[in-house]
Amino acid sequence: MKRLTDLSKRDLRTLFDHIQAAIALVDREGNLVSWNSAFEAGKRKFPRATTLQEMFHPKDAEAIRLKLAGGMAEHWAGEFAATDTDAAALCDFRLMPVGDRNMVFVAERIESEADAENMVGKLRKQVTLFQVESEHSKKLARNKQIEMEAVIAQAEEVAHVDALTFLPNRRTIIKDMQSEVMRAERYRSLFSISVVDIDHFKSINDTYGHPAGDEILRHVALYLRDAIRHPDVVGRYGGEEFIILLPSSGKAAAAEQAARLCQELRNKKIQVKDEEIQVTVSIGIAEYRNGEDSWHSLLKRADNAMFTAKNLGRDRWVIGE
Ligand code: GH3
Ligand code: MG
Ligand code: MG
Repeated sequence: MKRLTDLSKRDLRTLFDHIQAAIALVDREGNLVSWNSAFEAGKRKFPRATTLQEMFHPKDAEAIRLKLAGGMAEHWAGEFAATDTDAAALCDFRLMPVGDRNMVFVAERIESEADAENMVGKLRKQVTLFQVESEHSKKLARNKQIEMEAVIAQAEEVAHVDALTFLPNRRTIIKDMQSEVMRAERYRSLFSISVVDIDHFKSINDTYGHPAGDEILRHVALYLRDAIRHPDVVGRYGGEEFIILLPSSGKAAAAEQAARLCQELRNKKIQVKDEEIQVTVSIGIAEYRNGEDSWHSLLKRADNAMFTAKNLGRDRWVIGE
């Protein structure tokens, strides 16, 4: 299968200009080399910016600069000032090294679940267009279509899986939550969720470094995936925050699981390079209320419960009111 880098410059430009995500090529210092039209729309807010970090909120600029200097593939969520709206929007960010001097930066808004669908939809249209345009040179078109389909396959995967932990990403886990809410509503069945947030993760990053932080995130993700039982699913909701869906379970079962997760994680020694690192988590639980809740209100209750667990001293679980 051909890779994205095998596409001609013109095809890449067409492709990137039809993707809603803001894409820019930058060097390791963050200097902007080239960008697509979605990025341009946000860049207008920063007419004097010559680097990527200048387009972030000042509080995030240093972190971005470090990520760029690190030259590693990165995937994180946060706020991006340079979007087409007035306010900063919550975005899913990616950095991908190309060559040994440059990085591709991708910012995709994650407020709307329609965005991913849109992106894939638009890529699909591109393939159709390509078929029509290239009627007179069928062979070429066939090759190009194979390339475009490879790009779509990549885009679909990117749209569902979190690149750091390989868990379902935020969009996917929200979608699954919406389906479970509909199912619970239809069959009047039980459904609970747990929000799991790593305690003091910022100081873990500060103490051991960001790459070690990433490694710990991967360990915790893997642990959670193995520790839950079918039909439960876990996804990465944000930076160091995970959501577990417990279809057919009430809050008592969710609490039993949460107690086990807290205890097992507390006693687990995570090996990162020469260090053995221990983490604890705070868990907020909410049980779906039939005819009353939406996925949003359910999540909010779980989130509030998680914050209560933090306030009570962390390393514990709380059931949301
Ligand atoms: P609390 O106990 O209140 O949850 O404290 P905290 O430090 O975990 O909470 P806070 O939300 O302030 O910090 C979360 C940190 O997680 C900040 C951010 O730098 C880090 N983080 C978010 N995403 C990633 C990631 O992908 N990799 C790494 N290494 N760190 C991340
Ligand atoms: Mg935390
Ligand atoms: Mg958090």
